[in-house]
Amino acid sequence: MNNNLKYFIEKYNMYLLNGKIDIDLKYATKDNFLHKKIYNNTTCLLRREVAIKLLEANNYLKENYNLKLCILDAYRPIEVQREMYKLVPNPNFVADPNGENCNHTKGNAVDICLIDMNNNKLPMPTKFDYFGIESSRTYYKNNKNLDQNIKSNVILLEKVMNKFGFIGLESEWWHFNYYKEYPIIK
Ligand SMILES: [Zn+2]
Repeated sequence: MNNNLKYFIEKYNMYLLNGKIDIDLKYATKDNFLHKKIYNNTTCLLRREVAIKLLEANNYLKENYNLKLCILDAYRPIEVQREMYKLVPNPNFVADPNGENCNHTKGNAVDICLIDMNNNKLPMPTKFDYFGIESSRTYYKNNKNLDQNIKSNVILLEKVMNKFGFIGLESEWWHFNYYKEYPIIK
């Protein structure tokens, strides 16, 4: 671990998740709504308490459902948040970096999906980062035409995350905030 990262982790009481859970950081690839690689590494961090709870949720899923969590995004530096908000200035999908709801930059929000034990992603209502009504929780809860398999996957994800203290964002099935508040890391 380089010294800058070590210093950052200690200063903000972060936890490095690499090697502890499956990670597929979409912003470290071009497979995201910006079609651009914006992280220059795959370092995956969350506030320590948040990370520990997420690992507990992952163990619970493995033991009870033979499934795992896969992280799509976690802590996000404020510079990245600013760049995203410039491109999508819609707070339903990208938090205003000057506002209070910028949870990825607080280190207590995670974008997540379910994978099986062979690391295949389970079908969900939309792709990650799909900015439309089909991504919302109301949509999958109220839509009688949604495939039952998809519906049970997304409901299971929400149920398990809730059990470990994470609250789902209404507009995005993949986004969860830990219930405790933390300041934005500037
Ligand atoms: Zn998110």
